[in-house]
Amino acid sequence: MSPAFNLETCARPNILALEPYRCAREQVPPDYKDDGSNVLLDANENAYGSPLAIGANSLKSEAAAAGLDLFGLHRYPDPHQEDLKQQLCELRNNHAHTVQTLTPANLFVGVGSDEAIDVLLRCFCVPARDRILVCPPTYGMYGVSAQVNDVGLVKVPLTAAPEFGVDVPAVLAALDAAVAAPEYDIKVVYLCSPGNPTGATLKKDDIAQVLAHPTWNGIVVVDEAYVDFVEDQRTASLAEWVLEWPNLVVMQTLSKAFGMAGIRLGAAFCAAPIARLLNALKAPYNIASPTSTLARSALTPQGLAAMQVNRAKLVSQRVRLIESLPQIPGVGRLRGGTDSNFLLYEMLNAQGQPDNAVALAVYTKLAEQYRVVVRFRGKEHGCLGCLRITVGTEEEMSQFLEALAKTLAEVRQ
Ligand SMILES: *Cc1c(COP(=O)(O)O)cnc(C)c1O
Repeated sequence: MSPAFNLETCARPNILALEPYRCAREQVPPDYKDDGSNVLLDANENAYGSPLAIGANSLKSEAAAAGLDLFGLHRYPDPHQEDLKQQLCELRNNHAHTVQTLTPANLFVGVGSDEAIDVLLRCFCVPARDRILVCPPTYGMYGVSAQVNDVGLVKVPLTAAPEFGVDVPAVLAALDAAVAAPEYDIKVVYLCSPGNPTGATLKKDDIAQVLAHPTWNGIVVVDEAYVDFVEDQRTASLAEWVLEWPNLVVMQTLSKAFGMAGIRLGAAFCAAPIARLLNALKAPYNIASPTSTLARSALTPQGLAAMQVNRAKLVSQRVRLIESLPQIPGVGRLRGGTDSNFLLYEMLNAQGQPDNAVALAVYTKLAEQYRVVVRFRGKEHGCLGCLRITVGTEEEMSQFLEALAKTLAEVRQ
């Protein structure tokens, strides 16, 4: 017995009040394991897998072929990850947005983009004083990370569906108000492009207007988790644009198009002075050796070619869904864009209106009866009645389309 200990008064209030980020797979009764009995279309993973043909035996030869020692496990990993950073730079140095060239000095690599989101917040925001600005509907981790750090949240919704663009006048006005407020400042603006759950790419000019705010002293983060699913791959990423803007950070990840959510590798491109700060504040050995080795294999020319093959398969299934879904009674409009490996669709009631009760019933029935798991997004700003459907393999999409048609027919009776 510890007479004075009281967790409720000992822990930080913002942590006690925390609603942890909930993964889709934690949300409904049957546990949605990836044991082959479920079709998992909820977390925007790449169902065709990683570029590495990883079997227990091929892993070692893959690594050896890439000249990498996968099994130097008794040593601490390289804290700087220069070689991995160089490969990431080469991937994005295409001179579509600048004549300058990215180098490893422009990079932070972390345990998924989730670490980059958190490191940026801790770098710039003073707890219990500063705020971040987000544009709903958007990725939930920005808000969770803000609360963990006791940093406030200013929400400026995106423009209405299906454009889901930055409301530039409203964002600029919120930044004006922050500049004028003695009690707090907005230090970071998190933009997601292509957006989750919107699938829409933001306009470069809109981002430029925020970056160029005349009096606001802060950082604009563009989260490009889905950038490799955009049609025009040469101009899609703004990573190298960080060489033109000292206050721009561009985040990427190997979790989506690269199909490597399991290794936890994210990156933040930024001007070298920001990268120095982020690298100074991170834990020294944040990137495990196997993660680094596998990431470097995926970023070799062979790895990139294999990624492109899987990407092309997903893009063709995305086209198929866009053609097939409108033919199912009860499926409403496509909201948002088509630049990601997921699509946001309305579910309609018998009166033809988008309806959250219908969408939730479809979501639950799909999971429990047909073991197909999608994500309910109807409570997000501007997403009434919407499900977010990750594009999967050809067989998964056949299974999904059939299950959805049956489910909607039953739910809408
Ligand atoms: C999936 C996703 C990420 C990826 O996070 P990781 O930590 O790199 O797996 C980042 N941002 C958005 C918007 C996402 O949807």
